[in-house]
Amino acid sequence: MKIVMLGAPGAGKGTQADKIAEKYNIPHISTGDIFRSNIKAGTELGKKAKSFIDQGLLVPDEVTIGMLLDRIHEADCENGYILDGFPRTIPQAESLTAALKENGEAIDFALDVEVPDANIVNRMAGRRACLKCGATYHTEFAAPKKEGICDKCGSELVLRDDDKPETVQKRLEVYHEQTHPLIDYYKKKGVLHAIDGTLSMETVFKNIVDILGA
Ligand code: ADP
Ligand code: ADP
Ligand code: ZN
Repeated sequence: MKIVMLGAPGAGKGTQADKIAEKYNIPHISTGDIFRSNIKAGTELGKKAKSFIDQGLLVPDEVTIGMLLDRIHEADCENGYILDGFPRTIPQAESLTAALKENGEAIDFALDVEVPDANIVNRMAGRRACLKCGATYHTEFAAPKKEGICDKCGSELVLRDDDKPETVQKRLEVYHEQTHPLIDYYKKKGVLHAIDGTLSMETVFKNIVDILGA
């Protein structure tokens, strides 16, 4: 099963992708997490990506596409995967389609998690991230057991620099310009499913399972 998560920054893609990965036993691949771990490790890729991410801009396709295609050709992707944060541009989607087509494959489900912009800034301000293991929390809606500490690995939680309101505004603009057109792209391929992302995390997940099948 190959799944793509669509939706604005903060819509809940990562939260749902984690649950889907667990239930269907497929890897959760987040391009944002890959960039952040490269930045933390000080790699060349991380250096290339950092200034774009800090400004709320997309990392250029030349960098992102190769990185993602390498990842999905790893052994753990044999039975499928869930992509969270990729594709974010039409050229990224076209490269993914072409790479899959070489093996007679295609994306099976594109799940569009819909949340109005007005709700996003609040969600982002409350988001707390573990940069070590990628886990995500929310100060109000998904608080960790101990304030400021990751339940899964014990590391300190942070408010990502790019989750501050000024940068979130920019990311939303970028989303509407460059990423929103993908909804139509996957609709035309007949694999798009819209999900109401304003509901509780549990209800959103239940609705997704109804689509994917138990
Ligand atoms: P969110 O989950 O809030 O949408 P991500 O963690 O997916 O944020 O991404 C953080 C940042 O990493 C993005 O704002 C962008 O700069 C960069 N990024 C992630 N995925 C991509 C991609 N597919 N193409 C270009 N840039 C990306
Ligand atoms: P994305 O990956 O799309 O950027 P996240 O999954 O990181 O989004 O969610 C953004 C923030 O909103 C996180 O702090 C998360 O805990 C919270 N969140 C996710 N889903 C919901 C929901 N259905 N209701 C309320 N808050 C949510
Ligand atoms: Zn952690």
